[in-house]
Amino acid sequence: MAQPHSKNTLDIPIRFLPGIGPRRASVLSGQGITTLGDLLFLIPRRYIDRSTIVTIEALRNGKLQPADSGSMEGPDVRNDVTVVGEVRSFRLVGYGRKARFVLILGDNTGSMQCVWFGGVQYWKKAFEVGETLAVSGQPSFFGNVLQIVHPSVDHLAPRNVEGDDETAVEWRNALNTGRLIPLYPSTQELEKVGLDSGGLRRIIASALRSSPSSGPETLPQSVVRAHSLRSLGDAFHVIHLPQSRREIAEGLYRLKYEEFFHFQVKLALKRHFSKAETGGIRFEVESKLARQLVDSLPFKLTKAQIRVINEITADMKETRSLNRLLQGDVGSGKTIVALICMLIAIDNGYQAAFMSPTEILAEQHFRTLSNLLRTVPVNVRLLIGGQKARLRRDILDDIQRGTAQIVVGTHAVFESAVDFARLGFIVIDEQHRFGVLQRASLRKKGGNPDVLVMTATPIPRTLSLTLYGDLDVSTIDELPRDRKPIKTVLRSDQMAKEVYSFVSDQVRSGRQVYFVYPLIDDSEKVDLKAATTHFERLRDDVFPDLRLGLLHGRLDGSEKETLMDAFKAGELDILVATTIIEVGIDIPNATVMVIENAERFGLAQLHQLRGRVGRGSDQSYCVLMAGDWTVAKAKRLDGLTTEFSGMTPEELAAQRLATMAATTDGFRIAEIDLALRGPGDFFGTRQSGIPEFKVADILTDSRILDAARTDAFNIVERDPALVHPDHHALREHLRGSPPDSMTLLHVG
Ligand code: ADP
Ligand code: MG
Repeated sequence: MAQPHSKNTLDIPIRFLPGIGPRRASVLSGQGITTLGDLLFLIPRRYIDRSTIVTIEALRNGKLQPADSGSMEGPDVRNDVTVVGEVRSFRLVGYGRKARFVLILGDNTGSMQCVWFGGVQYWKKAFEVGETLAVSGQPSFFGNVLQIVHPSVDHLAPRNVEGDDETAVEWRNALNTGRLIPLYPSTQELEKVGLDSGGLRRIIASALRSSPSSGPETLPQSVVRAHSLRSLGDAFHVIHLPQSRREIAEGLYRLKYEEFFHFQVKLALKRHFSKAETGGIRFEVESKLARQLVDSLPFKLTKAQIRVINEITADMKETRSLNRLLQGDVGSGKTIVALICMLIAIDNGYQAAFMSPTEILAEQHFRTLSNLLRTVPVNVRLLIGGQKARLRRDILDDIQRGTAQIVVGTHAVFESAVDFARLGFIVIDEQHRFGVLQRASLRKKGGNPDVLVMTATPIPRTLSLTLYGDLDVSTIDELPRDRKPIKTVLRSDQMAKEVYSFVSDQVRSGRQVYFVYPLIDDSEKVDLKAATTHFERLRDDVFPDLRLGLLHGRLDGSEKETLMDAFKAGELDILVATTIIEVGIDIPNATVMVIENAERFGLAQLHQLRGRVGRGSDQSYCVLMAGDWTVAKAKRLDGLTTEFSGMTPEELAAQRLATMAATTDGFRIAEIDLALRGPGDFFGTRQSGIPEFKVADILTDSRILDAARTDAFNIVERDPALVHPDHHALREHLRGSPPDSMTLLHVG
């Protein structure tokens, strides 16, 4: 395919750039930097402002502290002062390890010292008496001697202009002083070839100076004008060679906006074309089966559940395919909503697939669904790995003949040779594990099934806009009416006795209790031993008259099932478990969740665990246990803050507990969790499908994201084929983007 922007100067290989020989080129490409564009996308970590040039006299008279940059909005900038003067003399002082190099710098207002400890032999050869220097750094007094220790230096050639004063010098060569200095992230490998922050500064500056233009504009003029965006080349220029902080901020804005905009245009196109599609199934949404299910439920659907069912079925009636995200907090009743929709599809003669991220979850969902369908004539089948060959063949036959009406399984299972007779509806319970791209490939199975994506944990809005920006969204924003908010308390380990007696009381009044014990050691064996010891102590010493069971990952499927069934049937009072109960367990009579070593869990995990209680009409409790210090600290912290700078890991652990005690709102917790961990870690896995942005940060740049999203969706709505002349460059750019993102594009 012709690459219309292959002439783009950003594509110039780095080996053609000044200051980069074969050795540097090879080290750089080892770091993923092979073109000018890659190099320019090396964004400075922060800046030092050395644009404040002062005379030595002014410095001596108290201009020691440059203006503080702390409150400055925008880029991270530290202030230094810069002095321009002439080298009067230099000398070595002291011996051996104590040796230091002292240089006297003078201007027409006075003189001062520059001091270096170490590197003495090098500095001895670095200067000439009489030459003009610019030095920058943090000034100080040693006794009453004014000095800058370890200043940054530029050698300046004096300009031969008539009537010149001593500070009028040629600044063109200054890279290290007198201006805003970018600091670059380097690595050991890069430093070995002289590319520390300063070395990178030099090659980037000369690259920019030697190839000033940098390719065509891909953004429509309409948005460039609306946001007064700098051009791409200009943005690189002001980011790497800034004259002011404002320039840096503007340059960064341009790059971030562009990243978000391109991404959002792809999402908008995907959404547009899936909506415009007419090959979808037109379901008749009056369903006898669904009615039968609803009538059999021991409760009434909440208003929110009814609202989202209406949103979903409105799409199901249309000829376009359903592409919708269903979100709601733990326990808000998503499963039933999904089931009702599947029953509608089945009544229309189609099959439905329910996809879980793990086998354990698939089994749980299979049991939940079968249970809900006790009185409804529907054939539900479970398809997971490790099933006996004969059983598997039987299930696959069932699917192929169309007699398996609901098939529950993992994503992996559906990817292999499963051949549906008439697949009409897919539910993806995704727990963040599938990204946009996988969803796109899934659609290709079967005719043109409707897809409903459920998230088990609430997602902060900024993330859902990138992860699910192509989907319509339905939100269950209400818990069933009979639910009382779970009471969450923090208890130090020293208060274990009181916790135990509270647990006994609850059991005596007919309730059931979970004890969760985290896996601490890396070795499963050691861990299991610890969990077992702990369990035996609870059973034999603490609760000798109660019935306890231990659930852990080493049990096989049927052992787990027996244990869960016993707990469900009320034959056990207390279930001691490692974290596997996090997933989908639903036992309304269990009202107490005790989590030991709670400081070891992440926020999302704690929220999921807590969601295992509070599922019936009785008051439920979550007891978080941790060490004295942690609990005392947590009680003093504001659990709703999102400001965590400078906190130690111990304090962060206390912060998580404080948050759990402060709110039960899953969306709130998700926002705080995201702020605590940053988007990269939010889902605990790199393969989570979160797009990675080079410059933008979906957490801190959410305002830019909003702007880019609005623009992108407006443009695609008005001109989905991108045929308007102002959109041509954008269209060409999208065609040339990497193949995986092309699967999102139905353009052209
Ligand atoms: P989610 O998947 O959203 O975490 P579930 O679908 O597992 O929630 O539902 C949680 C529990 O609430 C289940 O026991 C379910 O049967 C029950 N439930 C669902 N909807 C209602 C309702 N409207 N009123 C009372 N209980 C409900
Ligand atoms: Mg559920």
